[in-house]
Amino acid sequence: MQLGFRFDPAKKRFMRLILIGPPGSGKGTQAKLLSQRLGLVHFATGDILRDESQKDTPEGIRANQHMRAGQLVPDELINELVNARFNGVQKPSKFVMDGYPRTLAQAVYFDAVLQKQALEPDAVIFLKVQDEEIVRRNGARWTCLNPDCRATYNTITKPPKVPGRCDLCQQLLFQRDDDKPDTIRKRLHVFHAQHDDILRHYQKRSLLVEVPGTGDIEVIYGNIVQALTRSSDPS
Ligand code: AMP
Repeated sequence: MQLGFRFDPAKKRFMRLILIGPPGSGKGTQAKLLSQRLGLVHFATGDILRDESQKDTPEGIRANQHMRAGQLVPDELINELVNARFNGVQKPSKFVMDGYPRTLAQAVYFDAVLQKQALEPDAVIFLKVQDEEIVRRNGARWTCLNPDCRATYNTITKPPKVPGRCDLCQQLLFQRDDDKPDTIRKRLHVFHAQHDDILRHYQKRSLLVEVPGTGDIEVIYGNIVQALTRSSDPS
């Protein structure tokens, strides 16, 4: 695959990023690209929760009830999972957060977790996409069943080569309950109720970078890189 923009690794910039956007804004895809191209750990709380749920851990069972209803899982549950990973032996020092924080309480908690580890975030990227576009995109989203793969496809913008099968591992694709139209409307409602506070929180800390999340995947990636470069330019 032809790569788009690349950072100069010698400058060691943008090692710790937080990606925020409505469900289906493409933040998962962009987080994966940022992770591959910048060598960052892709920290996706939705994937962590789905894994816990598949393993039937107490946290997973509890989280699943909320996820199936299109609601956020309680702050204390997700905060503890994040804190455990950032305090564990394999704690990431370079990362891109995908799906966390999602409430102001999580953002404040995460500030403290990072501060304790001396890991200040470099930037918070907000991927902006209109609601109608989000509903259209989510109806077309399919995810790989393989828990070690979890590749996502979009029958409009990024279809699999063989319908219903993953390009990477050939496993079957499925539509997540929380990608169905009624659930997505609920999730958008939840997103709007929460995100203003979070954006304001990071704006106050001069970390927020807003990027249009529409267009081709590489165009959006380019928008992110340009916005980050502009934000870090002292002139
Ligand atoms: P995602 O894959 O990021 O779209 O997340 C799927 C679902 O997992 C969400 O709809 C929530 O129910 C739950 N979830 C993921 N991350 C969080 C979080 N930071 N706070 C609360 N719930 C979360």
